[in-house]
Amino acid sequence: MKNEMIYEGKAKRLYTTDNAGVLLLEFKDSLTAFNAQKRGSFAGKGSINRDVAAHIFKELKKKGIESHFLREVGEREMEVRRVRIIPLEVVVRNVLAGSTAKKMGRDEGEPLPRPLVEFYYKDDALADPFLSDDQAIVLGIATAEQIAILKQKALEINQVLQGLFQAVGIQLIDFKVEFGTPSESEGDIVLADEITPDCCRLWDAKSGERLDKDRFRRDLGRVEESYSEVLKRLTNSSGHRFVPGGR
Ligand code: UDP
Repeated sequence: MKNEMIYEGKAKRLYTTDNAGVLLLEFKDSLTAFNAQKRGSFAGKGSINRDVAAHIFKELKKKGIESHFLREVGEREMEVRRVRIIPLEVVVRNVLAGSTAKKMGRDEGEPLPRPLVEFYYKDDALADPFLSDDQAIVLGIATAEQIAILKQKALEINQVLQGLFQAVGIQLIDFKVEFGTPSESEGDIVLADEITPDCCRLWDAKSGERLDKDRFRRDLGRVEESYSEVLKRLTNSSGHRFVPGGR
């Protein structure tokens, strides 16, 4: 049962349930970019993202990677374990794109010799600044041990995701994940939040067409079609047909 709303983010809402250790995560239809300066939405986005995230969490579990996911509820919600979120956005890059390409004056699309893990401090008021490992530790945001675990888990997730996407003709360029500590077991760190086209860069392996939030950020059009194409390929379910380069 959905009780009190305890958090509303840019793309999700979080509710308490009758079970203190379980929350309900609702995926909204809204899309934001550039620290919410750009806003949009499309009908059905919440449901697509819930389905993508649930599918990915289940696949990760099969490979021994624990997350907060418990089960799907309704069309756009999932039950999740209550965790305390570690305020770090953990980004993994396989191919250079986005902010790091821009900062370094390099072209997007440059393959990296090995996956690169980066940390950003989760703080909207500061626009989520980049943080070195040492800054995160010395400024008391995470312990050295936690940083090592986050890096290792992020790289393990990357391996599984790369395989999942590769199998359906999608190249995983980069992605962002968040982690939390379940209240009942302080030591453990589990994957939390979501993995969806909102927080990954996904390029069609053949055409290089972007199938992710960059279509919205950069006004490339066909946002909805791209999100449902990702879901369709991952789950083999019916969805919109995406014609690369089409209008
Ligand atoms: N990302 C995210 N939330 C953020 C920032 C980044 O989900 O607040 C994702 C983004 O979708 C991409 C990856 O993390 O898949 C790396 O993003 P980048 O640092 O290149 O930032 P951007 O170019 O999106 O500003």
